[in-house]
Amino acid sequence: MWINKLKDLILNTLFPVECLGCRQHEEIICQKCLDKIIVLNKWETNLYSLERIVTIFDYQQPLIKKAIKSFKYSPYNLNILKSLSPIFIKCLKQSPLILKFLTKNRFILVPIPLSKQKLAKRGFNQAEVIAQELAAAFNWPFKKSLKKIKNTPSQTNLSREQRKLNVQSVFKIQGEIAPNIILIDDILTTGATLEQAAKALYYAGAKKIWGIVLVKG
Ligand SMILES: [Zn+2]
Repeated sequence: MWINKLKDLILNTLFPVECLGCRQHEEIICQKCLDKIIVLNKWETNLYSLERIVTIFDYQQPLIKKAIKSFKYSPYNLNILKSLSPIFIKCLKQSPLILKFLTKNRFILVPIPLSKQKLAKRGFNQAEVIAQELAAAFNWPFKKSLKKIKNTPSQTNLSREQRKLNVQSVFKIQGEIAPNIILIDDILTTGATLEQAAKALYYAGAKKIWGIVLVKG
């Protein structure tokens, strides 16, 4: 979008690009700092309602923490997120058997959506950007199957029927649902969002749901 390009231009003029890690090189994250990033590549099974979730980075690494903050909070730097993508793609390539399984079983990438207000404020959905980068790298299909209707409410003290209604009131399903889905998000905190999204997809007919997140906060 031209407005984002204009914003980048103004920001780069006011604040010349310097490496987020060492502040020495005129790059968003210099190669030296990228090389120092340790990937976690941690696969967990049966977490929440998801069969498997991989966490790519260790949130305790200062550079990763800084990078996540830079696209989560104003001025929402999309380029920092994009500069991490070769690393998270490389990380997943370390699990070739899993990748083969996901490709063979036609898993579809579904990003966790943002509310309309948040999307307007940030200008991009970080989960969607991650999903697009992964889709391009692994030739996986990508589909925006979820739409966020309202912020995630608490699920405690609700009956099963109420929970179902609650889930349906957070995410709306868009179009046909694929049986095998990989949910994508940037940061997993309480797990409530992934849980709600997975449940909405299961109710709509999904059979297997996995997840890929950049970090666990
Ligand atoms: Zn650096």
